[in-house]
Amino acid sequence: MNIVVCLKQVPGTTEVKIDPATNTLIRQGIENIINPFDTYAIEEGVRLKEKHDGKVTVITMGPPQAEAALREAVSLGVDEVILLSDRAFAGADTWATAYTLAAAIKKLEACDLIICGRQTIDGDTGQVGPEMAEMLAMPFIAYVGAIEEIKGGSLRVRRLIEEGHEVVVSSLPAVITVSKEINVPRLPSLRGIMKSKSAKITTWGLADLGVGEDKVGLAGSSTQVIKVFFPQRETTAEMLEGDVPKQVDGLVARLKKAGLC
Ligand SMILES: Cc1cc2nc3c(=O)[nH]c(=O)nc-3n(C[C@H](O)[C@H](O)[C@H](O)COP(=O)(O)OP(=O)(O)OC[C@H]3O[C@@H](n4cnc5c(N)ncnc54)[C@H](O)[C@@H]3O)c2cc1C
Repeated sequence: MNIVVCLKQVPGTTEVKIDPATNTLIRQGIENIINPFDTYAIEEGVRLKEKHDGKVTVITMGPPQAEAALREAVSLGVDEVILLSDRAFAGADTWATAYTLAAAIKKLEACDLIICGRQTIDGDTGQVGPEMAEMLAMPFIAYVGAIEEIKGGSLRVRRLIEEGHEVVVSSLPAVITVSKEINVPRLPSLRGIMKSKSAKITTWGLADLGVGEDKVGLAGSSTQVIKVFFPQRETTAEMLEGDVPKQVDGLVARLKKAGLC
């Protein structure tokens, strides 16, 4: 099986600061980690390879420091890693991100399954997986909690829904996004860590993908960030004077005024 896993490097903290001038994340001094949901995607890819033979390729689009996340993926058992990095890719919204990832996947030899995390812990949209499936004209299944069977060019999974789960059968190739219920990710082995140090990181830029500059990064993004801000929380308290019936009247009057009763 040829499996592709999409991985995003994200800040390892929720204490992020936003640059008010550019509306982008201030990345200096922040430790980066593999997006937690993507560790489940990597583990599932490696398990499928161990069961069915084949190869796991991990792709990330990000700045040069995303190389660290790819080396970590190698230590966890993946075979090939690709970094999509180019100034032209900067400022991408989810559509342009999915477009760039899809263009890279089209360049690879035919793959059977593309595994993404269900969402990231920074952007948090959960849009990249389904958008990529649409662009690759592949079936898509979200919130996969278990892969039950892969046989004869088809895939049977259990996907989580609010009331329980659904069993879905799809043809391959397909794109899935996985939840944390799917497995328990392994720790890197010593051999894996050694291998990761010398692993070849293939880096592709705009010219390698052969796509137009107007399709990627900020230019290829149909959404623009106008403003990013932390919501201001305001709490006020008013003590109602008098005996209880007077306090109740006062409360009802205020609720009515606020249109709440
Ligand atoms: C209008 C707009 C402008 C933006 N501008 C910038 C900017 O200037 N700079 C910036 O850094 N970010 C920017 N972003 C954020 C950027 O678009 C997102 O980081 C990216 O599109 C992924 O979206 P997400 O984090 O919501 O991923 P989700 O859709 O929640 O991710 C789901 C899964 O898709 C895969 N995935 C997601 N992103 C990647 C990736 N990069 N590589 C490989 N796999 C991936 C992973 O498997 C992940 O678990 C912008 C977003 C918007 C909406």
